[in-house]
Amino acid sequence: MFANLSDRLTETFRNLRGKGRLSEADIDGTIREIRRALLDADVAVPVVRTFTGNIRERALGIEVSQALNPGQQVVKIVNEELIAILGGESRPLRFAKNGPTVIMLAGLQGAGKTTLAGKLAHHLKQQGHTPLLVAADLQRPNAVTQLRVVGERAGVPVFAPEPGVTREDERPRGNPVKVAKKGLKEAEQRQHSVVIVDTAGRLGIDQELMRQAGDIRKAVEPHEVLFVIDAMIGQDAVATATAFQEGVDFTGVVLTKLDGDARGGAALSVAEVTGRPIMFASTGEKLDDFEVFHPDRMASRILD
Ligand code: GDP
Repeated sequence: MFANLSDRLTETFRNLRGKGRLSEADIDGTIREIRRALLDADVAVPVVRTFTGNIRERALGIEVSQALNPGQQVVKIVNEELIAILGGESRPLRFAKNGPTVIMLAGLQGAGKTTLAGKLAHHLKQQGHTPLLVAADLQRPNAVTQLRVVGERAGVPVFAPEPGVTREDERPRGNPVKVAKKGLKEAEQRQHSVVIVDTAGRLGIDQELMRQAGDIRKAVEPHEVLFVIDAMIGQDAVATATAFQEGVDFTGVVLTKLDGDARGGAALSVAEVTGRPIMFASTGEKLDDFEVFHPDRMASRILD
């Protein structure tokens, strides 16, 4: 995903590493190259501004007497600032003290929510939880079927509206808010430790669906609302994330399709813009293509 950005930064640092002293012009030249590399990777403009501003300020304060030479110190600063815009520390899921932990998924259609629902269920099952998947995406004709397939693969039961889906090209019947509530009740009765609620998304931001997601949030009072975003979304990342933040006030972010070869600006923008932590990453279509997100590991991958 970050091959190009990574190459550009490596090239920038190569010119720096040997330097015994850094003039203000050296620093400004470096900052300019970093800025261009980030903008070309589709990182949001305000994020680029914050990032390069912090690096410049710290680089100007570098003292020559330290163990690392000035060039190496700049590399270290960039690494630290990259970790900071990626959210700093990784943040684990919050679990309920009593009763099932409710995790709601929200995001645009095609972002990878349903796929993620299966991966998250699989991950939690491996940790000893007993998840229930709830199909509250009643918008897309075969979303319920898809969740059933995903659940079967993960060996996790799926709660769906009755009598289930009709034809592939027909919308499943039911009210998603009611389905979500019923799913939660079912989880309580059957003592599932976690409920993962999959919700509907459209290709673009849609007021009606956003309201519906907000209603589901109110109805099931989730412990976590995860905003699922395709890392290939590019410059639209900020507008999309902001709309979902207003609509459902998510508590964490999941980046999907990190295995793609797009420029990855979303991955680098969304934590800083929303102030919400990136908690998981999805890196493929298989159940195991899933990682707990660690900002420091992502930063080293980029600066490697
Ligand atoms: P939803 O509409 O948000 O529920 O999205 P889906 O889960 O249906 O995913 C949309 C498409 O993206 C499907 O073809 C998935 O197989 C694919 N997909 C989901 N996550 C990933 C990922 O991490 N990497 C890749 N390469 N494809 C993914």
